[in-house]
Amino acid sequence: MKIGIMGGTFDPIHLGHLATAEAVREIFKLDEVLFIPAARPPHKLGRRVTDERHRLEMVHLATRSNKFFKVSDMELKRTGLSYTLDTMNELHRTFGAATELFFIIGADSLADLSKWHAARELVEKCHFIATTRQGVDIDFSAVEEFFGAAAREHIHRVTTPGLEISSTDLRERIRLRRSIKYLVPEAVEEYILREELYL
Ligand code: ATP
Ligand code: MG
Repeated sequence: MKIGIMGGTFDPIHLGHLATAEAVREIFKLDEVLFIPAARPPHKLGRRVTDERHRLEMVHLATRSNKFFKVSDMELKRTGLSYTLDTMNELHRTFGAATELFFIIGADSLADLSKWHAARELVEKCHFIATTRQGVDIDFSAVEEFFGAAAREHIHRVTTPGLEISSTDLRERIRLRRSIKYLVPEAVEEYILREELYL
C-alpha cells in the first residue's frame, strides 16, 4: 500500500488542497490520500484556529466525492502538539510497517523540513512529496546537504497545477463579505455560510 498524507490546518479546506492531492495521487499511483486536519500546528501557535469540529466537517464535505480521499481525526484526538513523527508512527501501527507513507507538503515547507522535530528520522522512514507550481524553482541543494542520500530517495519534487488559493485569503474574503465561489467546493461554501464562520 502507498498512502499519501495531506496535513494542514484546513481553515478552511480549498480547491488548492484538493487539486494538489489529486495530482499527487495520480502521479505517484497512491492507493489513497488521507487528509489529516492538524490540532495545534507548532508553527501557528500565535493565531486563532477555527473550532476543530468545523474544520473536520469541511474536510469531510470536500473529500466525499473522491473515493480515493479519506479523512482522519487522529491529530485532533491527540493531546499536546501535533508532530509528524507521532502521526507517522501511528499510521505505521495502523497500516503495518510495509505500507509506504508519502507526506505531501508545499515546496515552501521543504526549506524548513530540516528544522522539523526528528527530521532525519522522518526522511529515512517515510517519503516527502514537495509540490511546486510551474516555473517556481526549489533550491534542493541545502536539503540534499542536510539529509544526504535519504534526500535523493525519499524526498520527491513534483509540479502540480498551481491554484492561487490560500485559506488566509479565503478568511479575509469572507470577512469582507466577498465571494468564495469556485475557490472551495460548493458544500464547503454552503457550510461556511450556514455556520457563519470567519465573519
Ligand atoms: P493558511 O493561509 O491559513 O496558511 P493554507 O491555504 O496555506 O492556509 P494549510 O492548511 O496551511 O492551507 O495548508 C496545508 C497544506 O496545503 C500545506 O502543505 C500547504 O503548503 C498546501 N497548500 C496550501 N495552499 C495550497 C495551494 N493553493 N496549492 C497547493 N498546495 C497548497
Ligand atoms: Mg499555509
